[in-house]
Amino acid sequence: MKKYLTIAVFAVLVLSCSTNPFTGKQTLNFHSNAEIFPTAFAEYDKFLNTHEVIKGTEAAATIQRVGKRLTKAAELWFNANGYQGYLDDYKWEYNLVADDAVNAWCMPGGKIVFYTGILPICQNDAGVAVVMGHEIAHALVNHGAQRMSASALQQYVGLAGNVALGASGSSAQTINIFNQAYGIGSQVGVMLPFSRNHETEADAIGLRIMAIAGYDPTEAARLWERMSANSGGSQPSEILSTHPSNQSRIANLRSLAPAAKAEASKYGVTSFE
Ligand SMILES: [Zn+2]
Repeated sequence: MKKYLTIAVFAVLVLSCSTNPFTGKQTLNFHSNAEIFPTAFAEYDKFLNTHEVIKGTEAAATIQRVGKRLTKAAELWFNANGYQGYLDDYKWEYNLVADDAVNAWCMPGGKIVFYTGILPICQNDAGVAVVMGHEIAHALVNHGAQRMSASALQQYVGLAGNVALGASGSSAQTINIFNQAYGIGSQVGVMLPFSRNHETEADAIGLRIMAIAGYDPTEAARLWERMSANSGGSQPSEILSTHPSNQSRIANLRSLAPAAKAEASKYGVTSFE
């Protein structure tokens, strides 16, 4: 009996792999967009309804402007690399909320929030693009869904062959795992840390997207240095708790910038702001 259960688990794992379009690597993912996005969209609306969303200011316009350029760049990249339709289910939104926390995030399906507290550190459009590009990258390659899958695997591996994991629709179980994976509940909108691998991956993808959008990828190292320097301040720095900006991370960002610029040139982008 045990043997069959093991085979069943193995089959579920094999069927549950998806390819990361940027790295070509196979990743564990039990959760389809169709399953996750409705939950993410509902949680996003809930968040906006309970926070002060800023409209009609220059800062709010900046978030919209940078967001639309990055989205366009991501579309260009997917279309040029054989992934037409990859973003079809995305419903991009770029909102600024009045909150002193140094934070920003992107939920699955392209639901972005910037907090006003992070803007002084971003300083300019390229700085906003660094942060947003990184957060979008987590969403584009389903890092959250991978984390959900890993936690589901931990919880359910004992119940070998629990193929209900792949069921579609926002079941109570899915919502529960989603909330755990995104830290929603006790602290709404505060994301749990991704693994170091996911962080490095999001850095690299974010740089490429921002460069294709015409933003200078060399700003990334400077942005995270500013973030580091700010960590001694009085404002809570949520994003630093999940994005430790050590010297090796900053050096890595610096070393990847030329390749990001070279990739952008394939799209006719040769000058950067
Ligand atoms: Zn990150």
